[in-house]
Amino acid sequence: MESKKKNEKYKCIHCGYIYDPEKGCPKNQIKPGTPFESTPETYLCPQCKSKKAGFELLR
Ligand SMILES: [Zn+2]
Repeated sequence: MESKKKNEKYKCIHCGYIYDPEKGCPKNQIKPGTPFESTPETYLCPQCKSKKAGFELLR
């Protein structure tokens, strides 16, 4: 089976916010179905405004 990378969730290490690709992120104008890796570099955590680098893959 192929791994479905696009469905992987990412967690903000600063506040615990979970980015769910199936939901996207309305505050960042991210449409549902967008993999975290495809979000713009300007993406900021909607809760604590942490940069994308502050997210880690949720396992
Ligand atoms: Zn955060």
